[in-house]
Amino acid sequence: MLVGVMQDIKELTLKELEETLKSFGANAYNARQIFSWIYKKGVSEFAQMSDLSQSLRDSLSKSFYISGLAIVKKLKSSDGTQKLLFKLKDASLIEAVIIPAKGRITGCLSTQVGCKFACRFCASGISGFKRNLTSSEIIEEVLYLKRESLPERLTHLVFMGTGEPLDNYNEIIRAIRIINSPDGCNIGARRITISTSGIIPGIQKLAGEGLQIELSVSLHAAGEKLRTEIMPINEKYPLKELIAACKEYVAKTNRQITFEYILIKGLNAGLKNAQELSKLLSGWKLAKVNLIPSNLISELKAAPPEKKDILAFRDYLIKHKVNVTLRKERGEDINAACGQLRLTYAKE
Ligand code: SF4
Repeated sequence: MLVGVMQDIKELTLKELEETLKSFGANAYNARQIFSWIYKKGVSEFAQMSDLSQSLRDSLSKSFYISGLAIVKKLKSSDGTQKLLFKLKDASLIEAVIIPAKGRITGCLSTQVGCKFACRFCASGISGFKRNLTSSEIIEEVLYLKRESLPERLTHLVFMGTGEPLDNYNEIIRAIRIINSPDGCNIGARRITISTSGIIPGIQKLAGEGLQIELSVSLHAAGEKLRTEIMPINEKYPLKELIAACKEYVAKTNRQITFEYILIKGLNAGLKNAQELSKLLSGWKLAKVNLIPSNLISELKAAPPEKKDILAFRDYLIKHKVNVTLRKERGEDINAACGQLRLTYAKE
């Protein structure tokens, strides 16, 4: 039997739990039962796991605990988008969003407390970086969103909330393996999207994981100078090298990459910018651009362009054979852009 510090059981993959249970004199099947109790039935105490022997339940409670998230605030937008603010054990605040759309419900997850990358359009960077989330905390977000979505099913997940997922690589991959496992949260890999600001080593590593997840890369400008202005990370991982890494990723995985492009009035939303963008991506079959009109964030002086300018930008790309979609803004009345609820709450 294990002795020592209590461990959060959600930090273990199924394989690791199977191994650990051997030291309890239990078998691999028990690990599946425990996974089912935690991830499918959502129980929070070993005592509730009625198909495990009493002695196994006792042993588990001496070595492990099942963590949970404390909800601080819930906001629901008129379009059904729901924003949730959680408090972690160390009193840090994180937020997650539920976005219902036709035939799907998407959960948007945070991966860090704060963010160190200070993208110009994003509220998350304003108060700086505090720490990485653990895999267990990320999974707790998923479990909470699953419960909150009932009676509907949470179908998709995007790592697009506060934080840079590839800056917290190991915890994210561990969490995804549990979320994706049929014995865990059972959310298909193709329904899970990692969104990165362009951490090249992370993209390279991800290409070798053998995960069928979706990758989305925040571009926001198609020239080095403007991209550095909007996303300071471009200084460390310049656009030219980023695009090369993305091409390698596509060649290795044969999976499409989505390039996110936030349209900010007076900054990157003119026809000259659309022209640069179409040149950068022309002839690239497995690339898609997702245009996102910026939310209004007064602290950052970011505002969306006029509707006609948004459409002109999109139409230019279509005309030049760039695969493009225009995202509808969701949850504007509840500050649903990443980091905004946390920011508003901190000011109250
Ligand atoms: S967009 Fe992402 S990487 Fe950039 S500051 Fe916001 S949370 Fe960080």
